[in-house]
Amino acid sequence: MNLNTIVEVKRPSSSDQIGQWRDGYAWLAGGTWLFSEPQVATSTLIDLDGLGWAPLTATADGLEIAATCRVADLHAFKGPPAWRAVPLFNRCIDAFLMSFKIWNAATIGGNVCMSLPAGAMISLTAALEGVCTLWPRDGQPREVPVVDFVTGNHKNVLQKGELLRSIRLPASALTKRHAMRQMSLTHLGRSAALIIGTANDKGADFLLTITASTPRPVQLRFAKMPSAEELRHAINDQLPGDGYFEDVHGSARYKRHLTYYFAEQIRAELA
Ligand SMILES: Cc1cc2nc3c(=O)[nH]c(=O)nc-3n(C[C@H](O)[C@H](O)[C@H](O)COP(=O)(O)OP(=O)(O)OC[C@H]3O[C@@H](n4cnc5c(N)ncnc54)[C@H](O)[C@@H]3O)c2cc1C
Repeated sequence: MNLNTIVEVKRPSSSDQIGQWRDGYAWLAGGTWLFSEPQVATSTLIDLDGLGWAPLTATADGLEIAATCRVADLHAFKGPPAWRAVPLFNRCIDAFLMSFKIWNAATIGGNVCMSLPAGAMISLTAALEGVCTLWPRDGQPREVPVVDFVTGNHKNVLQKGELLRSIRLPASALTKRHAMRQMSLTHLGRSAALIIGTANDKGADFLLTITASTPRPVQLRFAKMPSAEELRHAINDQLPGDGYFEDVHGSARYKRHLTYYFAEQIRAELA
Protein backbone atom coordinates (compact mmCIF):
# COMPACT_ATOMS: atom_id res chain seq x y z
CA MET A 1 0.00 0.00 0.00
CA ASN A 2 1.07 3.60 -0.44
CA LEU A 3 2.27 5.17 2.79
CA ASN A 4 1.10 8.75 2.46
CA THR A 5 2.78 9.97 5.66
CA ILE A 6 6.30 9.30 4.32
CA VAL A 7 8.12 12.46 3.30
CA GLU A 8 11.64 11.05 2.95
CA VAL A 9 13.44 7.77 2.26
CA LYS A 10 17.08 7.74 3.34
CA ARG A 11 19.49 5.26 1.77
CA PRO A 12 22.65 5.32 3.92
CA SER A 13 25.72 3.24 3.05
CA SER A 14 26.70 3.23 6.75
CA SER A 15 24.47 3.47 9.82
CA ASP A 16 26.65 6.38 11.10
CA GLN A 17 25.22 8.56 8.35
CA ILE A 18 21.87 8.69 10.17
CA GLY A 19 23.04 10.99 12.96
CA GLN A 20 20.44 11.89 15.53
CA TRP A 21 17.40 9.63 15.69
CA ARG A 22 14.13 11.56 15.35
CA ASP A 23 10.51 10.73 16.09
CA GLY A 24 8.94 9.38 12.90
CA TYR A 25 12.05 7.52 11.73
CA ALA A 26 11.79 3.78 10.99
CA TRP A 27 14.31 1.27 9.66
CA LEU A 28 13.10 -0.28 6.42
CA ALA A 29 14.12 -3.89 5.75
CA GLY A 30 12.01 -5.95 3.30
CA GLY A 31 9.04 -3.64 3.92
CA THR A 32 6.56 -6.54 3.89
CA TRP A 33 4.99 -5.46 7.15
CA LEU A 34 5.76 -1.73 6.90
CA PHE A 35 3.90 -1.50 3.57
CA SER A 36 1.06 -3.80 4.64
CA GLU A 37 -0.73 -1.28 6.86
CA PRO A 38 -0.83 2.50 7.46
CA GLN A 39 2.17 3.84 9.44
CA VAL A 40 0.67 7.07 10.69
CA ALA A 41 3.53 7.76 13.13
CA THR A 42 6.25 7.26 10.50
CA SER A 43 7.52 10.07 8.27
CA THR A 44 11.00 8.82 7.26
CA LEU A 45 12.09 5.37 6.15
CA ILE A 46 15.77 4.42 6.43
CA ASP A 47 16.49 1.69 3.93
CA LEU A 48 18.91 -0.92 5.25
CA ASP A 49 19.62 -2.36 1.82
CA GLY A 50 22.45 0.09 1.04
CA LEU A 51 24.43 -1.05 4.08
CA GLY A 52 25.60 -3.97 1.95
CA TRP A 53 25.92 -6.56 4.72
CA ALA A 54 26.87 -10.09 3.58
CA PRO A 55 23.68 -12.12 4.12
CA LEU A 56 25.27 -15.29 5.50
CA THR A 57 28.78 -15.89 6.83
CA ALA A 58 29.65 -19.46 7.78
CA THR A 59 32.80 -20.13 9.83
CA ALA A 60 33.99 -22.98 12.06
CA ASP A 61 32.32 -21.14 14.98
CA GLY A 62 28.88 -21.05 13.40
CA LEU A 63 26.68 -19.05 11.07
CA GLU A 64 26.26 -15.29 11.16
CA ILE A 65 22.97 -14.17 9.64
CA ALA A 66 22.86 -10.48 8.75
CA ALA A 67 19.60 -8.81 9.79
CA THR A 68 19.13 -7.91 6.11
CA CYS A 69 19.45 -11.54 4.94
CA ARG A 70 16.30 -12.41 2.97
CA VAL A 71 14.20 -15.40 3.91
CA ALA A 72 14.87 -16.69 0.37
CA ASP A 73 18.66 -16.49 0.94
CA LEU A 74 18.39 -18.55 4.09
CA HIS A 75 16.22 -21.06 2.24
CA ALA A 76 19.00 -21.55 -0.33
CA PHE A 77 21.71 -22.06 2.29
CA LYS A 78 23.56 -25.39 2.27
CA GLY A 79 25.68 -25.98 5.36
CA PRO A 80 28.44 -28.50 5.98
CA PRO A 81 27.17 -32.06 6.69
CA ALA A 82 28.16 -31.74 10.36
CA TRP A 83 25.53 -29.01 10.79
CA ARG A 84 22.64 -31.40 11.22
CA ALA A 85 20.21 -28.63 12.12
CA VAL A 86 20.32 -26.92 8.69
CA PRO A 87 17.19 -28.75 7.36
CA LEU A 88 15.32 -27.01 10.17
CA PHE A 89 15.83 -23.69 8.35
CA ASN A 90 13.46 -24.68 5.56
CA ARG A 91 10.96 -26.37 7.83
CA CYS A 92 10.62 -23.12 9.80
CA ILE A 93 10.50 -21.02 6.62
CA ASP A 94 7.67 -23.24 5.36
CA ALA A 95 5.76 -22.46 8.57
CA PHE A 96 5.34 -18.83 7.50
CA LEU A 97 1.99 -17.57 6.29
CA MET A 98 3.56 -15.91 3.26
CA SER A 99 3.20 -15.63 -0.45
CA PHE A 100 6.34 -16.13 -2.55
CA LYS A 101 6.47 -12.34 -3.07
CA ILE A 102 6.81 -11.76 0.67
CA TRP A 103 9.22 -14.66 0.99
CA ASN A 104 11.60 -13.02 -1.51
CA ALA A 105 11.50 -9.61 0.18
CA ALA A 106 11.15 -10.30 3.92
CA THR A 107 14.33 -10.36 5.97
CA ILE A 108 15.33 -12.42 8.97
CA GLY A 109 15.94 -9.25 10.99
CA GLY A 110 12.56 -7.80 10.02
CA ASN A 111 10.83 -10.94 11.20
CA VAL A 112 12.69 -11.00 14.51
CA CYS A 113 12.10 -7.25 15.07
CA MET A 114 8.37 -7.66 14.35
CA SER A 115 8.41 -9.98 17.37
CA LEU A 116 5.11 -11.68 16.57
CA PRO A 117 4.34 -14.99 18.32
CA ALA A 118 4.15 -16.67 14.88
CA GLY A 119 7.52 -15.26 13.81
CA ALA A 120 9.05 -18.45 12.45
CA MET A 121 12.54 -16.93 12.25
CA ILE A 122 12.29 -16.24 15.97
CA SER A 123 11.39 -19.91 16.53
CA LEU A 124 14.34 -21.03 14.42
CA THR A 125 16.99 -18.73 15.79
CA ALA A 126 15.86 -19.10 19.41
CA ALA A 127 15.91 -22.91 19.10
CA LEU A 128 19.41 -22.79 17.62
CA GLU A 129 20.61 -20.66 20.54
CA GLY A 130 21.05 -17.56 18.39
CA VAL A 131 22.56 -14.39 19.81
CA CYS A 132 21.57 -10.98 18.42
CA THR A 133 24.11 -8.21 17.96
CA LEU A 134 22.40 -4.87 18.52
CA TRP A 135 23.75 -1.49 17.57
CA PRO A 136 22.38 1.18 19.95
CA ARG A 137 22.28 4.75 18.61
CA ASP A 138 24.82 5.93 21.18
CA GLY A 139 27.01 3.36 22.79
CA GLN A 140 28.76 0.11 22.19
CA PRO A 141 27.20 -2.87 20.41
CA ARG A 142 25.47 -5.27 22.78
CA GLU A 143 24.54 -8.95 22.54
CA VAL A 144 21.20 -10.44 23.55
CA PRO A 145 20.11 -14.08 23.10
CA VAL A 146 17.14 -14.31 20.71
CA VAL A 147 15.10 -15.98 23.45
CA ASP A 148 15.44 -12.81 25.56
CA PHE A 149 15.13 -10.37 22.65
CA VAL A 150 11.38 -10.88 22.25
CA THR A 151 9.55 -9.78 25.39
CA GLY A 152 5.91 -10.15 24.30
CA ASN A 153 3.48 -9.97 21.38
CA HIS A 154 5.06 -7.34 19.06
CA LYS A 155 7.43 -6.29 21.87
CA ASN A 156 11.19 -6.56 22.18
CA VAL A 157 14.23 -5.08 23.90
CA LEU A 158 15.16 -2.65 21.09
CA GLN A 159 15.65 0.90 22.32
CA LYS A 160 14.69 3.91 20.20
CA GLY A 161 16.60 3.77 16.91
CA GLU A 162 18.57 0.69 17.93
CA LEU A 163 19.47 -1.54 15.01
CA LEU A 164 19.56 -5.32 14.90
CA ARG A 165 22.80 -6.00 13.03
CA SER A 166 22.96 -9.81 12.95
CA ILE A 167 22.16 -13.10 14.61
CA ARG A 168 24.90 -15.64 15.31
CA LEU A 169 24.03 -19.34 15.46
CA PRO A 170 26.80 -21.23 17.28
CA ALA A 171 28.22 -24.37 15.64
CA SER A 172 27.52 -26.23 18.90
CA ALA A 173 23.77 -25.77 18.29
CA LEU A 174 23.95 -26.34 14.52
CA THR A 175 25.48 -29.79 15.04
CA LYS A 176 22.70 -30.99 17.38
CA ARG A 177 19.89 -33.32 16.36
CA HIS A 178 16.46 -31.73 16.16
CA ALA A 179 12.74 -32.46 16.07
CA MET A 180 10.02 -29.96 15.22
CA ARG A 181 6.23 -29.87 15.36
CA GLN A 182 3.97 -27.12 14.02
CA MET A 183 0.23 -26.67 13.72
CA SER A 184 -2.02 -24.04 12.16
CA LEU A 185 -5.80 -23.98 12.46
CA THR A 186 -6.10 -23.31 8.74
CA HIS A 187 -4.06 -24.54 5.79
CA LEU A 188 -1.11 -22.10 5.41
CA GLY A 189 -2.44 -20.14 8.40
CA ARG A 190 -0.31 -18.56 11.09
CA SER A 191 1.18 -21.09 13.49
CA ALA A 192 -0.83 -21.90 16.62
CA ALA A 193 2.21 -23.73 17.97
CA LEU A 194 5.74 -24.16 16.66
CA ILE A 195 7.87 -26.24 18.98
CA ILE A 196 11.44 -27.35 18.44
CA GLY A 197 13.66 -29.69 20.42
CA THR A 198 17.40 -30.09 19.97
CA ALA A 199 19.69 -32.59 21.65
CA ASN A 200 23.17 -33.99 21.41
CA ASP A 201 23.74 -37.66 20.82
CA LYS A 202 22.36 -39.88 23.61
CA GLY A 203 19.85 -37.15 24.48
CA ALA A 204 22.31 -34.90 26.33
CA ASP A 205 21.62 -31.16 26.52
CA PHE A 206 17.98 -31.37 25.49
CA LEU A 207 16.61 -27.91 24.71
CA LEU A 208 12.90 -27.41 24.12
CA THR A 209 11.81 -24.12 22.55
CA ILE A 210 8.11 -23.30 22.68
CA THR A 211 6.89 -20.60 20.29
CA ALA A 212 3.66 -19.36 18.65
CA SER A 213 1.49 -20.83 21.43
CA THR A 214 3.02 -18.29 23.81
CA PRO A 215 3.43 -14.51 23.38
CA ARG A 216 7.24 -14.88 23.49
CA PRO A 217 9.63 -17.85 23.20
CA VAL A 218 9.87 -20.10 26.24
CA GLN A 219 12.87 -22.37 26.61
CA LEU A 220 13.48 -25.38 28.85
CA ARG A 221 16.94 -26.94 29.10
CA PHE A 222 17.78 -30.36 30.54
CA ALA A 223 21.29 -31.80 30.98
CA LYS A 224 19.89 -35.23 30.07
CA MET A 225 16.67 -36.36 28.42
CA PRO A 226 13.78 -35.99 30.91
CA SER A 227 11.02 -38.57 31.33
CA ALA A 228 7.58 -37.67 30.00
CA GLU A 229 6.50 -36.79 33.53
CA GLU A 230 9.56 -34.65 34.24
CA LEU A 231 8.97 -32.74 31.03
CA ARG A 232 5.32 -32.17 31.87
CA HIS A 233 6.23 -30.85 35.31
CA ALA A 234 8.89 -28.57 33.84
CA ILE A 235 6.38 -27.07 31.41
CA ASN A 236 3.86 -26.64 34.25
CA ASP A 237 6.49 -24.86 36.34
CA GLN A 238 7.68 -22.51 33.61
CA LEU A 239 4.40 -21.85 31.82
CA PRO A 240 1.37 -21.05 33.98
CA GLY A 241 -2.07 -21.89 32.53
CA ASP A 242 -2.61 -18.21 31.63
CA GLY A 243 0.77 -17.98 29.88
CA TYR A 244 -0.59 -18.95 26.45
CA PHE A 245 -1.41 -16.62 23.57
CA GLU A 246 -5.05 -16.28 22.56
CA ASP A 247 -5.91 -14.88 19.11
CA VAL A 248 -7.87 -15.70 15.95
CA HIS A 249 -5.31 -18.38 15.15
CA GLY A 250 -6.32 -20.44 18.18
CA SER A 251 -7.63 -20.24 21.72
CA ALA A 252 -5.19 -20.30 24.62
CA ARG A 253 -6.63 -23.68 25.69
CA TYR A 254 -6.03 -25.18 22.27
CA LYS A 255 -2.48 -23.85 22.14
CA ARG A 256 -1.79 -25.17 25.63
CA HIS A 257 -3.00 -28.60 24.57
CA LEU A 258 -0.78 -28.54 21.46
CA THR A 259 2.21 -27.48 23.54
CA TYR A 260 2.06 -30.51 25.86
CA TYR A 261 1.15 -32.87 23.00
CA PHE A 262 4.01 -31.79 20.72
CA ALA A 263 6.55 -31.43 23.52
CA GLU A 264 6.05 -35.08 24.43
CA GLN A 265 6.30 -36.16 20.78
CA ILE A 266 9.57 -34.24 20.41
CA ARG A 267 10.95 -35.71 23.65
CA ALA A 268 10.09 -39.24 22.52
CA GLU A 269 11.58 -38.68 19.06
CA LEU A 270 14.91 -37.39 20.40
CA ALA A 271 15.13 -39.84 23.34
C1 LIG B 1 0.40 -11.70 3.95
C2 LIG B 1 1.37 -11.56 5.10
C3 LIG B 1 1.67 -12.67 5.86
C4 LIG B 1 2.57 -12.59 6.94
N1 LIG B 1 2.80 -13.70 7.69
C5 LIG B 1 3.60 -13.61 8.78
C6 LIG B 1 3.83 -14.76 9.62
O1 LIG B 1 3.33 -15.85 9.39
N2 LIG B 1 4.63 -14.59 10.69
C7 LIG B 1 5.22 -13.39 10.97
O2 LIG B 1 5.96 -13.29 11.94
N3 LIG B 1 5.02 -12.30 10.21
C8 LIG B 1 4.22 -12.38 9.13
N4 LIG B 1 4.00 -11.25 8.36
C9 LIG B 1 4.59 -9.96 8.79
C10 LIG B 1 5.95 -9.62 8.07
O3 LIG B 1 5.79 -9.71 6.68
C11 LIG B 1 7.09 -10.55 8.50
O4 LIG B 1 7.24 -10.50 9.90
C12 LIG B 1 8.42 -10.21 7.83
O5 LIG B 1 9.39 -11.19 8.15
C13 LIG B 1 8.95 -8.82 8.20
O6 LIG B 1 10.22 -8.66 7.58
P1 LIG B 1 10.58 -7.39 6.67
O7 LIG B 1 12.02 -7.54 6.32
O8 LIG B 1 9.64 -7.26 5.54
O9 LIG B 1 10.37 -6.22 7.74
P2 LIG B 1 9.86 -4.71 7.54
O10 LIG B 1 8.41 -4.69 7.17
O11 LIG B 1 10.81 -3.94 6.69
O12 LIG B 1 10.06 -4.21 9.06
C14 LIG B 1 9.32 -4.75 10.13
C15 LIG B 1 9.61 -3.95 11.41
O13 LIG B 1 10.92 -4.26 11.90
C16 LIG B 1 11.74 -3.07 11.94
N5 LIG B 1 13.07 -3.53 11.50
C17 LIG B 1 13.34 -4.23 10.39
N6 LIG B 1 14.64 -4.57 10.35
C18 LIG B 1 15.21 -4.05 11.46
C19 LIG B 1 16.53 -4.08 12.00
N7 LIG B 1 17.55 -4.72 11.39
N8 LIG B 1 16.75 -3.46 13.19
C20 LIG B 1 15.75 -2.82 13.84
N9 LIG B 1 14.48 -2.77 13.39
C21 LIG B 1 14.21 -3.38 12.20
C22 LIG B 1 11.07 -2.08 11.00
O14 LIG B 1 11.36 -0.73 11.34
C23 LIG B 1 9.59 -2.44 11.22
O15 LIG B 1 9.12 -1.86 12.41
C24 LIG B 1 3.15 -11.33 7.26
C25 LIG B 1 2.87 -10.21 6.46
C26 LIG B 1 1.98 -10.31 5.40
C27 LIG B 1 1.69 -9.06 4.60
